[in-house]
Amino acid sequence: MGELNETIVVTSHPDHVKSLFTANPDDAPSLTGESPLRPIVGPNSVLTSVGARHMRQRGEEVFFLTGTDEHGEPVALAAEREGVSPQELADRNAERFKALAPLLHASNDFFIRTSDPEHVRRVQEFLTRVKDNGYVYEGTYDGWYCPRCADFKNENEIGPDNTCLIHEGFPLVLEHEENYFFKLSAYQQQLLDFYDANPDFIQPESARNEVISFVSRGLRDLSISRSTFDWGISVPWDDKHVLYVWIEALLNYATAIGYGTDSKRFDEVWPANIHLVGKDIARFHAVIWPAMLMGYGGRRQCS
Ligand SMILES: [Zn+2]
Repeated sequence: MGELNETIVVTSHPDHVKSLFTANPDDAPSLTGESPLRPIVGPNSVLTSVGARHMRQRGEEVFFLTGTDEHGEPVALAAEREGVSPQELADRNAERFKALAPLLHASNDFFIRTSDPEHVRRVQEFLTRVKDNGYVYEGTYDGWYCPRCADFKNENEIGPDNTCLIHEGFPLVLEHEENYFFKLSAYQQQLLDFYDANPDFIQPESARNEVISFVSRGLRDLSISRSTFDWGISVPWDDKHVLYVWIEALLNYATAIGYGTDSKRFDEVWPANIHLVGKDIARFHAVIWPAMLMGYGGRRQCS
């Protein structure tokens, strides 16, 4: 499994393992449209399942979460190609992913879908609080965007002829939009202090160094809404916009374990002790996610 060296671990309490999350970009393409008829489970899911079994055998209490990230332009585009609604495509794919778990003997405790109404409601509450705390503002965004990554690219992430470096040769789109922004730039120092105080937060060392050098170069505020398509969670204070898919999908780690609905379970499981993440999405999990939690002002993923 050569891809395993592309997996990074975001961890906080290595001596007290009880919850285990996985996020895998390899799982995403089949949901997001590159091969919508064939679910693919990447190495992370298998690795996480093995880890979960091992920990249970050692007598640890484990909560193993999997699910589908269903919103965003890639899903909307794939649905259009198939002549179905995005919800229909998401329903169909979620069933296929769910059906895979028993085939793989994966021992997940819960399967979250980001179109679950409970997830939607909690995401809206969370973002409203981040805005009330002063970390969301309205602005204009100009930038190169990869519809497959559902992500805007910095200058050093743009390939020849404005193509995506991750999706080799795939043309980027120059976007100009009125967006809401998250003040990610406000968290540069706090994040660096946090990595410093928690040397095991990102592993291996090479991934940690990459993240630290990215943050040290300076953080730009993050566009968190889109108004050119409507397949997503409405911005609670402005329904002409839907939330940027990453901003709401990251919240699944909290909504799946009872954030806002089951505080007993939430307190038992939160924060995650081990979070297996594909290398290409390290930045979302090791930079944006902790910054969002800081913006919310609640308990962080890590202590
Ligand atoms: Zn891309």
